[in-house]
Amino acid sequence: MATRNKSILMLPGDGIGREVMGEVRRIAGWLEKGRGVAFDISEGLVGGASIDEHNTPLTDETMAEAMEVDAVLLGAVGGPKWDDLDFALKPERGLLRLRKEMDLFANLRPAIVFDALAEASTLKTELVSGLDIMIIRELTGGVYFGEPRGIETLPDGSRRGVNTQVYTTPEIQRVARVAFDLARQREGRVCSVEKANVMESGVLWRQEVQKVYDEEYADLELTHMYADNCAMQLVRNPKQFDVIVTDNLFGDMLSDEAAMLTGSLGMLPSASLGATDATGRRRALYEPVHGSAPDIAGSGLANPLACLMSFSMMLRYSFDLADDAELIERAVTNVLDGGLRTADIMQEGKAKVSTGVMGDALLRELDKLAA
Ligand code: NAD
Repeated sequence: MATRNKSILMLPGDGIGREVMGEVRRIAGWLEKGRGVAFDISEGLVGGASIDEHNTPLTDETMAEAMEVDAVLLGAVGGPKWDDLDFALKPERGLLRLRKEMDLFANLRPAIVFDALAEASTLKTELVSGLDIMIIRELTGGVYFGEPRGIETLPDGSRRGVNTQVYTTPEIQRVARVAFDLARQREGRVCSVEKANVMESGVLWRQEVQKVYDEEYADLELTHMYADNCAMQLVRNPKQFDVIVTDNLFGDMLSDEAAMLTGSLGMLPSASLGATDATGRRRALYEPVHGSAPDIAGSGLANPLACLMSFSMMLRYSFDLADDAELIERAVTNVLDGGLRTADIMQEGKAKVSTGVMGDALLRELDKLAA
């Protein structure tokens, strides 16, 4: 049976999004030539680039294509040029529409520290060196979406603000399964995080994660932790974790906290996963955590590694190409060990290089590793 090509929609977006995506494209080309991986890559507009061309941050056609392909890789959206537009027309709406219509309920934020960059962390080098943890944040439920919500004026004239933390069992179970499935490809350890000591939604979260574990994943390891303790443990001894799974609110904070253990925004990849369809394909959007960095756009200063590592997550999680993902990660490690740095991760005694020169070095390194 012929193997179907792996279809990817690349949406470079705005600012440095285009520059970093350009480097990823070169690496994808290398994989096609050097490793015989067959990609069908199409490119589309999102954010300000789409507003300029089509007067909307995401056209229906591009949205439809995102639903069709195996995976979407996004650069970044936004910039001062579009800051004064109405909220509904802003570049970010394109990204939000993708996330919503693809029903991306699980947000994966790895916190990986390359040894060469361990000194850039605010924590002691020995605490973070070799760190590799994965935080999975539930992305479509919880207190950011729960009803009732709003601000009301009470009879005595004072006002009351209300948000509702709410989770159903299917919402908890599906994100728990993503966490266990990922853990199976890693060290097999999941830590589920909530506040079951003070919140009913936390009690339910803990019970449901435990149930999914008991019934389907008992060969792995599951622990439970309160969110406040997790925040402390992440700075006390982050290497104790493998996979952390938590709700939307706690995940928002804990993933940013973990990101800061690693140093630069230019190094942080992410993925958002949705439900699996009848053919077993899971909707997926991969993107660097950083924005469009208008302050450095067009000057060759952008670090392409966050976008490249997002692509490598795509290889691993959408295409089951762990060997190719590892190859890319090894190339990144070696290039950093060799002393090359883009401006954002520059350290004394290292060689400062542009976006394109970093891409050249990665390609040379891949050639060497594959030889
Ligand atoms: P930003 O992430 O774009 O930049 C923050 C700082 O980090 C800047 O000084 C920038 O130069 C630097 N930086 C970021 N990525 C870098 C990289 N790869 N290499 C080197 N340096 C890098 O955040 P911001 O300045 O707050 O926002 C700029 C624009 O991006 C805004 O329009 C914002 O709305 C948008 N934004 C988009 C996304 C997204 O597309 N997912 C995320 C955040 C912000």
